[in-house]
Amino acid sequence: MKIGVLALQGDFAEHIVMLRSLGAQGVEVRLPAHLDGLDGLIIPGGESTTIGKLATDFQLMEPLREFGKSHAIWGTCAGAIFLSKDVSRRQPLLGLMDIKVARNAFGRQVDSFEADLDIAELKQATDTTHPYHAVFIRAPIIEEVRGNAKVLSKLEDGRIVAAQEGHLLATSFHPELTNDTRFHEYFLSLAS
Ligand code: GLN
Repeated sequence: MKIGVLALQGDFAEHIVMLRSLGAQGVEVRLPAHLDGLDGLIIPGGESTTIGKLATDFQLMEPLREFGKSHAIWGTCAGAIFLSKDVSRRQPLLGLMDIKVARNAFGRQVDSFEADLDIAELKQATDTTHPYHAVFIRAPIIEEVRGNAKVLSKLEDGRIVAAQEGHLLATSFHPELTNDTRFHEYFLSLAS
């Protein structure tokens, strides 16, 4: 499996380390030609406005939209924002996933937190029973899941933090910053 990680800004290096630990080939994507031959793409956390601006400058917007029609893409945090159709403000978005996202929904950097999540699909796919420990850093929430998109996980208060639409995946949190590889395994199963 060859998985690209959009390497314009943010914590792409951590995703590559995790992919390689699972035996997949993880490669940095900075130009449209780097998408050739990939089985899937991860868009990392960082700052969604910066990722959008750089993707526009590097003429990646249309190639990424085209790639996402037929390949798995997973956006973590800022990547989930960039993947979405609606963030209630103007910034470059891929608009691939039919979700509405609210940026910085938990407050500022100091309001970052961790939480245990119960994710049935993840447990089933990896044949495990323990909860998923998730890291939220100035995280967005998924306000609405529309069309064919479905909820994968909610916090105890009901706020949506993970969603899936076919081969597209969005998480508010950062699986690449933990030692739990289950989310990356789940994504590899979508990409294969
Ligand atoms: N707050 C960032 C944004 O709105 C996302 C933060 C992150 O990716 N950890 O783009």
